[in-house]
Amino acid sequence: MSDTEHRTGSDTGGTPDLPVTRPVALISGGSRGIGRAVALRLAEEGYDISFCFRGDEQAAALLEKELTALGARAFAARVDVTDAEGVRGWVTRTEEEFGPVAVAVTSAGITRDKPLLMMSDTEWHEVLDTNLDGVYHVCRAVVYPMLKRRAGAIVTLASVSGLLGNAGQTNYAASKAGIVAFSRSLAKEVGRRGVRVNAVAPGLIDTDMSAVLGDGIKEEVAGRTALGRAGLAAEVADAVAYLASPRASYITGAVLPVDGGL
Ligand code: NDP
Repeated sequence: MSDTEHRTGSDTGGTPDLPVTRPVALISGGSRGIGRAVALRLAEEGYDISFCFRGDEQAAALLEKELTALGARAFAARVDVTDAEGVRGWVTRTEEEFGPVAVAVTSAGITRDKPLLMMSDTEWHEVLDTNLDGVYHVCRAVVYPMLKRRAGAIVTLASVSGLLGNAGQTNYAASKAGIVAFSRSLAKEVGRRGVRVNAVAPGLIDTDMSAVLGDGIKEEVAGRTALGRAGLAAEVADAVAYLASPRASYITGAVLPVDGGL
């Protein structure tokens, strides 16, 4: 953990330096792609960032450095979101070291695309365990402290696949449809106690995840959007940052497509 303290004080030395409290954002799958863009965006908006990743330590270390350069405290935790206890420990440590989590974003996700007839049980379960159980584990861990404080915003990453369905993605689409229903239901449970829950449903976004599709498929999908192109991770991050912010104070249980008009 990089633990840069943020202090202000008079250059004359007459006033003692005082710690400045920054709100804390927790992001699953923050080391690459959309989660990374969200981390940078929220750091620019003044948040300290705690993010988890599964394996890519180099990417996590690089992001930690960039966040620190933006003036944020950064905590990179190697935690697999399928591990409920690991996620609980990460959230607890974040709150102990950085303070209450104001915003939680669930971006950790994987694909194992295949027609259903060729899909193995492992490919089905890996995707559901990571994408859907992972969201459950993160939200279960952050929501109680948020409810106690009667404040908090959760943004989940769904997908247009979960809204429209997509051949070759029965496992992924089912997990993302589950995230939509989960987010809307949780929003109804916790809204009266000051916690908002919204989902963002990206279309085709240029990240490592979509790189495996190959240029042909990407061009074909991009061609079906109103804007005629794939989106950028930063464009999804803007939507996430908006839903997480007080500017969205009357928005909860919403699913915001960020898909270029697919
Ligand atoms: P990337 O593959 O670029 O990044 C995935 C991130 O999730 C990485 O930081 C990865 O960490 C982390 N991660 C994966 N599995 C786990 C796990 N079990 N535990 C903890 N962290 C994990 O994906 P994107 O940024 O493209 O996708 C982000 C989210 O947006 C996903 O939920 C995805 O389904 C959704 N989405 C993406 C779209 C796209 O076109 N890119 C479209 C629609 C939705 P590590 O590197 O260590 O493995």
